[in-house]
Amino acid sequence: MQGKAAVVVCVDELVGGRRRVGQDAEPGKGIGPRVYERTYPFSWLGILAKTPPASDELIYAYHDRGFALHSMRSPEISRLYLQVDADDTMDAWPEPRIWDELRLRLAERELQPGEIIEAGITPMRSMVTEPMQHGRLFLAGDAAHIVPATGAKGMNLALADVKVLAEALAAWYRSKSRDLLDRYSELCLRRVWRAEHFSAWMTALLHRDPAGDPFDHKLRLSYLRYIVTSQAAATTLAENYVGFENA
Ligand SMILES: Cc1cc2nc3c(=O)[nH]c(=O)nc-3n(C[C@H](O)[C@H](O)[C@H](O)COP(=O)(O)OP(=O)(O)OC[C@H]3O[C@@H](n4cnc5c(N)ncnc54)[C@H](O)[C@@H]3O)c2cc1C
Repeated sequence: MQGKAAVVVCVDELVGGRRRVGQDAEPGKGIGPRVYERTYPFSWLGILAKTPPASDELIYAYHDRGFALHSMRSPEISRLYLQVDADDTMDAWPEPRIWDELRLRLAERELQPGEIIEAGITPMRSMVTEPMQHGRLFLAGDAAHIVPATGAKGMNLALADVKVLAEALAAWYRSKSRDLLDRYSELCLRRVWRAEHFSAWMTALLHRDPAGDPFDHKLRLSYLRYIVTSQAAATTLAENYVGFENA
């Protein structure tokens, strides 16, 4: 880096002390930022492995033993995920157990064990900070909102935020117009909440809830059958999966 060292002073309310939903702003200081948040009683164990994808298709699997996901990175490398307990560590998952569980949940006999290049456990979480700006501080991507990975929305939301912010900054530097900068949060949050809902809904639909009962299980199976038999249900899923802008 070149140039002079700079000191960045973080706005306490946004960066240092996030206010939880239901907590009021200090009297006389108006409404401050709020953090809306949900955690889930399970995590994802993800691996990147040197094994050819067992299928050309992305596979989302709902199984009695929990969710599994099959995706491909290249003809030689696969990215695979398993739902695991929220407090599981990698110690509980030696490689043979990971492969057995993947083959069982995905029902993919073709899936061959390969060298695991990366492995880790990621907690599932939903979070939105509102607003996504404070004075001249603008939050984008995961700094402003988190989605559980099930809907594959996190990076897409981050890029969409940055596109809005880039246009707002360009307008400011071209014509000193603050309008888009002032509306940055408002312009992003509608899309963010649609993706939050979709991601939470996909997560609830495809994961076994450790505290859930057989009734929940039957409801999920019924909805999954509905998706694969109803054009309307399939369309709803598809338009949210690719990104619905206007809600
Ligand atoms: C298992 C998993 C699967 C996912 N799958 C998908 C998917 O299929 N599709 C999708 O759209 N999204 C997916 N995501 C989400 C996606 O990865 C994130 O939402 C996205 O990377 C967020 O981008 P970001 O730039 O906001 O944050 P990040 O990608 O986290 O980038 C932040 C950067 O800041 C750096 N940094 C942090 N602190 C400092 C510091 N103090 N100083 C300097 N640098 C710092 C970090 O090192 C990092 O490089 C997935 C996430 C996970 C965990």
